Amino acid sequence: MRLTDDRYSAERCQFELALRMIRHEARTRTIRECTGLSDDRIRKLYTTYFQNSGNSGIKRRRGKSPRQVIRYVKTPQNQMQATTLVALFAAGLLLRIDGDDRVHASWPRPDVEFGHRLCRAYENYLLLHRHPQLSFEWAWNLLHCIAWNDELYLATCKQCDARYVQDAYAIDNGVCPACIIVGNPAEKGYNSAVLNDNNNLGS
Ligand SMILES: [Zn+2]
Repeated sequence: MRLTDDRYSAERCQFELALRMIRHEARTRTIRECTGLSDDRIRKLYTTYFQNSGNSGIKRRRGKSPRQVIRYVKTPQNQMQATTLVALFAAGLLLRIDGDDRVHASWPRPDVEFGHRLCRAYENYLLLHRHPQLSFEWAWNLLHCIAWNDELYLATCKQCDARYVQDAYAIDNGVCPACIIVGNPAEKGYNSAVLNDNNNLGS
């Protein structure tokens, strides 16, 4: 009986995570990696809870996660948002930043707890940025790129000493996205939402 209870409880945790991730339009493959559920069960969950329930705003994403690191650094806004996500990943113990600002993976492999922490980090990111530029899958890819693949790293701003996400193969001018936005009138005019985001980050 006890075994049955434990199994039921474990399955319920898997389902809860799958639903949470489907709401963020995570890809089937990402959901499978975190929950351990088969593609077929994930598809049925989506059909039962979203497609047939009138929740048609949620899309089921398939295929591979997006991979280009340029997405995280192509504008100061994106770069700042990627930096927020990395800070939230570190706060959620999904990765570890050592004394030399090197970023390390701190979770051996994705599991249900990892998935919930990833969702929590992403949900906090959505609260902090009024105009989020990075989807859940981009957040998932960011975690991999900075913790496992070394395609991104944390640079230090020479103006304010803050750390920010930078492309390992880009020429770094040494200025963080927040300083670029504050110091560049063109950037201010380009999107006032960036400044709103900046204020939100500081609050
Ligand atoms: Zn700075």
